[in-house]
Amino acid sequence: MSIIKKGITAAMINSGGHFLTLQPDQPVDVVLLHGLDDIQSVDTHSWWDYTPAPHLTCLGEVCPSCALGNEPHISSYYAVVTQTREVKYFIAKPSVITQLQKYEKALGNLAGRLVRLDKTGTGLKTKYSAIMLGKKLDVSKYEVPELESMLGPLTSESQLVKMTEAGIDVTSLKVTKKKVAKKTAPADAVEPVVASVEPDKAPWEDAEETTEEIDGWGTI
Ligand SMILES: [Zn+2]
Repeated sequence: MSIIKKGITAAMINSGGHFLTLQPDQPVDVVLLHGLDDIQSVDTHSWWDYTPAPHLTCLGEVCPSCALGNEPHISSYYAVVTQTREVKYFIAKPSVITQLQKYEKALGNLAGRLVRLDKTGTGLKTKYSAIMLGKKLDVSKYEVPELESMLGPLTSESQLVKMTEAGIDVTSLKVTKKKVAKKTAPADAVEPVVASVEPDKAPWEDAEETTEEIDGWGTI
């Protein structure tokens, strides 16, 4: 299952740690580590009705958030070098990507460009901006960090734990033995290199019992 897609899409959630977070009216200058073609995007579930809202990476066919009807949105990750020479991911909002697209059209690939990121307002009035500062730096010694390991729990079981901790009611996810529909490959599909790979299954599709509640099984 490929959860990371390259290229320009929409965007956004907030995270800490490996991620660059902006505070209102505190602009941050960073150097872009790559051009727009190398933005990585991930489908993300944000449970906004809960505080703090859990943000969970969509697991596709085995995704508990999808099974509960939460619609994923796209988070776009742009690798940047901070003033302290750390490589971090900036989660780029669609408005920022639109601005950067204009710059890239005018200036060519944005790798090495110094940019000022800013956030103003709060709540629904929050606005993000990216302004080129006219400087280009050599970023060849920096590497784009591997994103997947930073994305938090990536198994159904561990996400269910997180959801339960956040107060999300997951009890409607009864363990059932659902038939997983066989996927028919499109005629022009490329044959997979690996001959037989077990399809990913949600734990509630895997179990034999049809009556057991979700919290009665599974470990992380
Ligand atoms: Zn999902």
